[in-house]
Amino acid sequence: MNTVAKGPEFTVARAEGVWLWDDSGDRYLDGTASLWYCNVGHGRVEIADAVHRQISTLDAYTVYGDFTNRPAAELSERLAAHAPVVDPRVILTCGGGESIDTAAKLARRYWAVTGRPERTHLISRTGGYHGLHGFGTSLSGMDRFRSGYGKLVEDTSVVPHDSAEALEAEILRVGPERVAAFFAEPVVGAGGVFPPSDGYFAEVSRICHKYGVLFVVDSVICGFARMGNWFGIERFGVTPDMIVFAKGVSSGYLPLGGVVVSGRVADPFYNGEGNPFMHGTTYAGHPTACAAAMANLDILEREDLFTVSLEVERHLDGALRGLADHPLVAEVRSGLGVMGAVELTEEALVGRGITTAEIFTEARARGAILRPIPTALLVSPPLIITWEQIDHLVSTLAAALDAVAARH
Ligand code: PLP
Repeated sequence: MNTVAKGPEFTVARAEGVWLWDDSGDRYLDGTASLWYCNVGHGRVEIADAVHRQISTLDAYTVYGDFTNRPAAELSERLAAHAPVVDPRVILTCGGGESIDTAAKLARRYWAVTGRPERTHLISRTGGYHGLHGFGTSLSGMDRFRSGYGKLVEDTSVVPHDSAEALEAEILRVGPERVAAFFAEPVVGAGGVFPPSDGYFAEVSRICHKYGVLFVVDSVICGFARMGNWFGIERFGVTPDMIVFAKGVSSGYLPLGGVVVSGRVADPFYNGEGNPFMHGTTYAGHPTACAAAMANLDILEREDLFTVSLEVERHLDGALRGLADHPLVAEVRSGLGVMGAVELTEEALVGRGITTAEIFTEARARGAILRPIPTALLVSPPLIITWEQIDHLVSTLAAALDAVAARH
């Protein structure tokens, strides 16, 4: 990730299933599915074949105006068929951040074309991560992603991720007639794996509905079987106005993302009265990326990874909870989706000066890849991980914790 500063490098040379190899030939368990996305595991030949077939037929052609292509059209229909959105339409993009910005602009523009241009305010949540484009940076619930860029997009605010009351209070503070949309991940992911409390999303959905605020779900991490269903939010039985997706839609084999948009939001742009949504990008609906996604979704369905992942979720939860008594560990958060966080104590972090980067480095030296954030180590393995591999992942984390504890 050293795109500006040059630092120590670790070259990933090859990957297969849940494993990757560096260029010295050493093997590591990919405990994070790269950056939360390789849901079907690495090295799936059928995805490579689908990409080869598509690139030899129609390599690329932008989806715009009335141009489409078969993989883009089929993928859009397939996603729409499974999305918990009323009268769904699909906009395809190249990734999560681009999709968030698309949804944010669409939300504001929806109000503008329906005669309420003052409804511009966007609310997001603490710990929320929505990519690094302009709107996504401004919606971030983590200061380290927001600060240092001068003035961000105006009319945004952040509320605590665990409080529906706080959302309602914020809507009332801003004035409901000024609020365009509320953005939330089903489970806060990159911010530290914070599952919602019981009833949270039902209440949030009711509040958005009450004040006419568009409810936008960011399923970039939670989608495509990581939570046992297509978009993660199905676990809570609510119907958003838009769902943003990326990552697991193609398991990252090629970059792809998009937004599922309800008919209510999309229709004003199709009324033939000069309300086009002037927003599209060169690689939108890229046929080869869409072919990779279709082959990836075939695997998810054929291997029923939607059901398998619920068992993985349970086993991972059980294994991670075994770390809760470790002297460095303050809390384990897991049990909703194939993801977990091991939060370190303040005594370890501040008192003893232990960093999560040290634990990450120790674990990697022992053959497992984790993701360090300032106060926790995160895991989000491919959904095909076996119980034995889960135990290897968690015991490697335990050994890394022990090694770092012994040093400080
Ligand atoms: N939204 C969420 C919830 C994410 O976790 C991410 C990336 O980690 C994004 C959006 C941004 O996606 P991308 O990195 O593809 O721009």
